[in-house]
Amino acid sequence: MTIRVGQGFDIHPFSSDPGRPLVLGGVRVDGPGLEGHSDADVVCHAVADALLGAAGLGDVGLLFPATDERWQGADSMALLALAYEQVAAKWRAVNVDCTIIAEAPPLAAFREQVEARLSAALGAPVSVKAKRGEGLGALGRQEGIACLAVALIERV
Ligand SMILES: [Zn+2]
Repeated sequence: MTIRVGQGFDIHPFSSDPGRPLVLGGVRVDGPGLEGHSDADVVCHAVADALLGAAGLGDVGLLFPATDERWQGADSMALLALAYEQVAAKWRAVNVDCTIIAEAPPLAAFREQVEARLSAALGAPVSVKAKRGEGLGALGRQEGIACLAVALIERV
């Protein structure tokens, strides 16, 4: 069995637009929205990067450039599906593990929903952990949300 591992990271600042929804791993979460060209779903972007990285297929920015109007306000679950479609030509996800770093809002109530949504999208177990920034740096000052992800893939 040939296996490979990839890592992903993403970060977005909170939006100044109070009407912008917060979407994490395809789940609408109570809290201020994030700024970005797409729906700014940091979890989807980090997971997609981890999968693409594992397969050696570049990254989300390369596949869906911010200069391309097609991705304006895009649903990042759709972007993740498109990215995984490329990976899935030769690989299948074994598992993905994510850590969302957010001082606020509290994410405990949404964690399992995000896991279920992403696991269903990839057909593989996705685990999600939530950490706080402990007051340190930009994340600790509640200026945005970041996500780390690792993906293990195996040759189909
Ligand atoms: Zn992003």
